[in-house]
Formats: sequence, C-alpha cells, structure tokens
Amino acid sequence: MNTRPAEASAPRRSPMRVTVYAGSAHGNSPTFARQVEDFARELARAEVGIVYGGGKVGLMGVVANAALDEGGRVTGVIPRSLVDAEIAHPSLSALHVVDSMSERKEVMASLGDCFVALPGGLGTLEEVFEVWSCLILGHHQKPVMVLNVDGYWEILLSLVGHMADTGFIRPQERLTLIPISGAEDLFDVVASWRPPPPRWG
Ligand code: AMP
Repeated sequence: MNTRPAEASAPRRSPMRVTVYAGSAHGNSPTFARQVEDFARELARAEVGIVYGGGKVGLMGVVANAALDEGGRVTGVIPRSLVDAEIAHPSLSALHVVDSMSERKEVMASLGDCFVALPGGLGTLEEVFEVWSCLILGHHQKPVMVLNVDGYWEILLSLVGHMADTGFIRPQERLTLIPISGAEDLFDVVASWRPPPPRWG
C-alpha cells in the first residue's frame, strides 16, 4: 500500500525559466532600466528563474541584479571571449562559460521554457530572431515574446506586419512574435500557449 501523500508521488515539475535577451547598453532613457527591473523582480517573486547572457553591462546587468536582489535564480551563459568585455556577473546562481556565440545561443535556448527580448541592440535582435525563426520552422515549440517597454519594439512589430502584408511571412506567423508589457502578460501567454504548426509541416 502506498502511504505517501499524493503530492509526494506526483512528478515534481521544475520551476519555469525564462530566457531573456537584453541590451549590453542601458539606452538613453531611465524608463528602460526601470521597467526591466520591475519585470525581473516580478519574475523572481513568482519563483521564475531567469537565463540571460551572463554579463554585468547594460540592461543585462539590470535584469540580473534586480532578480538576484529579489531572491531569484539567475543563470548566465557567456562566451569565454566576452567574460572581460561584458564583465561576467560574479554572483549569479550559475554561470556557464561557453566557447562561442553560437554555443551561447544554443545553451540559452535549451535552458529556457520561453523567450523574451527586452530592449536592446543588434545582439538582442539577432538572438530573438533566431529563436523566433526556429519556432516558425518547428525546431522548438516555446513562446517568443518582446517586452515592449515604452513602445520600444513598435517599429519592429510594424516591420513584421509589413513582412506579412507583402507575403514574406504568413499571416498566422506574424502573431507568433508576441508583444507583452509585463510579467503578468508573460504568465498569460504561457498559460494559453499553443505552438503553431511548423511552416513546412
Ligand atoms: P546588444 O543588444 O547588441 O547590446 O547585445 C546584447 C547581447 O547580445 C550581448 O551579450 C552581445 O554579446 C550579444 N550578441 C551580440 N551579437 C551577437 C550574435 N551575433 N549572436 C549572439 N549574441 C550576440
């Protein structure tokens, strides 16, 4: 006879982890850091782990510090070549030092249950477009979002609309890059997430 309480025999679900892509700069308005900080704190309070690029610079550092300060679990993934340039964060819950940029992206993608681009520049864009295009191709099934702080990603979302209007992406694919305005939106997206069928499926 099984005398263990029901919850002890149920498989333990590991806590959710969000992979965030964020700028190595702060941007020229304090709003960016303020909203990113709020977002990171809300995730930490909800016991959602954060995976990010591992540096201390710019919004990357802001997101890590805010989550750690709130008692959250933060995992960094940084290429050896950037440990000094992006100042690898010394007090993360875990830091993976990898050999290349592509390995960084691969590890970050594998560790997260969903992906969010915070405001950032070329690196941020490159990283989020890789996971988004891989979702469309059916290489993974995790939601991809952009935190639209102060309308930062509005122009990008317009471009995506233009791609759909001109026939370079499918109308339903356009909707799979999801703008959110905070952690509550992220939880809603994850709760109602149904992966799209792969483009060539
Ligand atoms: P940025 O948005 O340009 O400030 O960069 C944000 C992060 O993306 C930094 O950690 C960069 O090292 C990283 N990054 C820049 N270029 C790439 C790339 N081609 N692939 C992956 N990460 C990149």
